[in-house]
Amino acid sequence: MREFEWKDKSAYTYGLHGTPTTYTLEERIATLEGGRYCVLVPSGLAAIANAALALLKAGDAMLLPDNVYGPNQAFAEGELARWGISTQVYDPMNPADLVSKITPATRLVWVEAAGSVTLEFPDLPALLQVCRDRKVWCALDNTWGAGLAFNPFDLLPGSGTTLGVDVSVHALTKYPSGGGDVLMGSVVTRDPALHRRVQRTHMHLGLGVAANDAELVLRSLPSMALRYRAHDVATRALAQWCSQQAEFVQVLHPALAGSPGHAHWQALCGAQDAAAGLFSVVLDPRYTLAQVDAFCDALALFKLGYSWGGPMSLVVPYELARMRVGWPGHLARGTLVRFSVGLEAVSDLQADLAQALQKLA
Ligand SMILES: *Cc1c(COP(=O)(O)O)cnc(C)c1O
Repeated sequence: MREFEWKDKSAYTYGLHGTPTTYTLEERIATLEGGRYCVLVPSGLAAIANAALALLKAGDAMLLPDNVYGPNQAFAEGELARWGISTQVYDPMNPADLVSKITPATRLVWVEAAGSVTLEFPDLPALLQVCRDRKVWCALDNTWGAGLAFNPFDLLPGSGTTLGVDVSVHALTKYPSGGGDVLMGSVVTRDPALHRRVQRTHMHLGLGVAANDAELVLRSLPSMALRYRAHDVATRALAQWCSQQAEFVQVLHPALAGSPGHAHWQALCGAQDAAAGLFSVVLDPRYTLAQVDAFCDALALFKLGYSWGGPMSLVVPYELARMRVGWPGHLARGTLVRFSVGLEAVSDLQADLAQALQKLA
């Protein structure tokens, strides 16, 4: 026992530090994302918190994209702020805005591709280059790409340079689980020193993962690429159909021509032709919030729910005006509704949308 070392996965010291089952899943997630090290935590949000707490200290500043996953910002404002870590927001569609927001106190920049809810696709290599030039860490929320749409640690393979994020967090709750029945997250790194920091914070906070949960994700992982592709194909078909319906003034989906950042998606994910299972619509502003709610309630196959990546389709209406500092110029005015497309038949889902649209009339 004296020879055991908790940081070393060749030994099994205490369940909180990992088990043979969680070590196996850690290695597979690191491989999936093209990283070297992985730490598992009980949720995607815990992965976000673990990464930030490992890298930041009092006096540091963090930058979040305007379309960040909401709970990341809530964690920053509700917890990090009390420990003297400040947060600013930048426009992810404008790398020059990121440049202007970085100060000597900035240590960490978060990026998301595509952005949460509004699904704009940023120029990820450009944002990363800014971080590298200014010597600040870049952390990606990689839940959308899932290790399949692009390689976060080598964004421009074949370019002769390695441009990659420092940290990739992933809500394994979504595609790796695939069942909508397990909560888990991961923090993947390539740099051993960064991994040690993440691992130390993980140990101090007691963010262990149950072996039975890890077993469920291990079982789902081999079918992830097939499921991701099925979600993707169905989502594009439905997004295309929605773009022809007069009730929707905008359809947001990075693979759809005209959607914000479509060219950046094409550049980064075109070779894989991968675009996950989410799309959003903006309803014509003539519809009241109550009418939009009635539309969502009228859907039978799309259940009301926040998550995604599971077999069941889900829908959530969002009031964007409450989520953004100002209304982004590239978004049409109106109430936004986000769809997560499951594994049901596309024709059934399309018929469901059509019958619910009649409730708007
Ligand atoms: C769901 C999600 C998370 C958080 O995952 P949980 O396991 O639900 O905590 C983080 N980031 C993104 C982009 C997500 O969609």
